[in-house]
Amino acid sequence: MPADVVFRVGRAYGMTAERRIHQAVAVEDGRITAVGRARDELDSLIGPGTAVIDDPELVLYPAFADTHNHQLLAARDLDYVPLEQARSLDELVQALREAATRTPPGQWIISSRCWHETHLREGRLPTARELDAASGGHPVFVQRGGHVGVANSAALRMAGITATSADPPSGTVVRLGDGTPAGALIEAGALDPVRRLLPPVTEAQQADLLARQCRLYNQRGIGVVRDPGLVPDELAVYQAVADRGELTTRTRLMFWVLPQATVAGTLAYIDSLPEPGPISADGGLGIWGLKLGMDGGVEGGFLCQPYANNPEFRGHAFWEPDDFEQVVEHAVGRGWRVGCHAVGDCAVGRVLDAYERVASRHPGLPPGTLVIEHAFLADAGIRARAVRLGVGVTVQHPLLYSLGGNLVRYWGQDRTGQVMPVRAWVDEGALIAAGSDCNVSFFDPLLSIWGLVTRGTRTVGVQGPEYRVDAYTAIRLYTEAAGRLLREDGDVGILAPGAFADIVGFRADLLDCPVDDLPSQQPALTLVGGRPVHDPDGLLGLLGAAGHGAA
Ligand SMILES: [Zn+2]
Repeated sequence: MPADVVFRVGRAYGMTAERRIHQAVAVEDGRITAVGRARDELDSLIGPGTAVIDDPELVLYPAFADTHNHQLLAARDLDYVPLEQARSLDELVQALREAATRTPPGQWIISSRCWHETHLREGRLPTARELDAASGGHPVFVQRGGHVGVANSAALRMAGITATSADPPSGTVVRLGDGTPAGALIEAGALDPVRRLLPPVTEAQQADLLARQCRLYNQRGIGVVRDPGLVPDELAVYQAVADRGELTTRTRLMFWVLPQATVAGTLAYIDSLPEPGPISADGGLGIWGLKLGMDGGVEGGFLCQPYANNPEFRGHAFWEPDDFEQVVEHAVGRGWRVGCHAVGDCAVGRVLDAYERVASRHPGLPPGTLVIEHAFLADAGIRARAVRLGVGVTVQHPLLYSLGGNLVRYWGQDRTGQVMPVRAWVDEGALIAAGSDCNVSFFDPLLSIWGLVTRGTRTVGVQGPEYRVDAYTAIRLYTEAAGRLLREDGDVGILAPGAFADIVGFRADLLDCPVDDLPSQQPALTLVGGRPVHDPDGLLGLLGAAGHGAA
């Protein structure tokens, strides 16, 4: 049976345990059907309809899998005001002012979430008063990551946040000495009164944005995404894009489970969700599991020792231990996998305590049923327990890269160096995979791989160099290890017969090039399910146009 595509290339890294390097790869019906050690080894599979990519410069890897990427949230940011490039509060306000001049008075000016105040000369968030300089006639909401936002005076007024309004039961409204809200709102309890007022984006608009976001990922070699934290309605957006054939990242979804007023309410919510498992027959879309959140971010993570900048504060925990355990127990009993956000050491410990008790009641629970997202602070004891229990861990160097400055400020130098001890996790045999936490940070897997190798950050230099890994390991965390974390090993993250033909090609060997050249490498070709989703040179252009072998 002739193949759809046969690659005859310089190298193709299988990324399997045997570390095999091939020179020929055959693809048929969206899957890899054969690999060969020599360039001509699969020539017998070339038929009249086979596209042959004969390029000795090309180096192939499994397409990158980002195991923690808020793909739909990031997509929604595409049309918001980007602030990543701002280097000072002046530049930030100027970007918002320009948006205001294009926006009818009274309508919202909203920023994208992927920027950070430590990248500004002033090193701090803007105030409401400063945002008022962008526009007095528009409500302005500057979002930053998932846990922090700043509203201008008009937006605060509309949300009913005033000098005399009650503080939310959770989260922080930052106030000036006289009680006037300063503008900054921290955690959902404080943010929600503003978020509720933001104009809805229609499902059709979201679908268009999501398709655009997928293409941006493909351009940087991403073929697989695990999207942690959807509400059920958002499944329809994904399905619409998949039905249009425009979901060009293989996507695994997680539903957000927030603590309801009662545990029974939370359990009922879980029972109301669509069932976990594949959604599209071709493996393009599926539901991975549930997402819970134990603590805040850098400013609100639940630490065992006080914050470096506030001896009275140890962060926020969003779940009582017993409630959390009941919810995880219920979910596991119903066949769900659970990934829980935990950054502070006390949060990680609390999640692991519950996981351990749940696992003890479910002997033979497959590894990776229970996952900790981020696990910023995980000492040897924590790691040993996680490894023993088969608890998965997802790490995101882009968070350390972007948030390093704030980590030093809030958690101190020592704890910042300990954040995400990737090398230790790998050496100790953890089920660990990498990702970005886009849109809290950037999604670029090549900059992220550079970061895993160097432990470099944007503003505070190298942090925790003892946790560096080699480039092969870094790429493996973005490929084969991700397939195992997803429990799709054999299908995802390797170049081997039977696996999905999710492939990225470069005209340089990422394992051979100087480490500082990694971030500037450009994928020459990305395939997902055998279909070219990024093909700037038109190597497989006709195949894509015909929809042949489509994912
Ligand atoms: Zn996240």
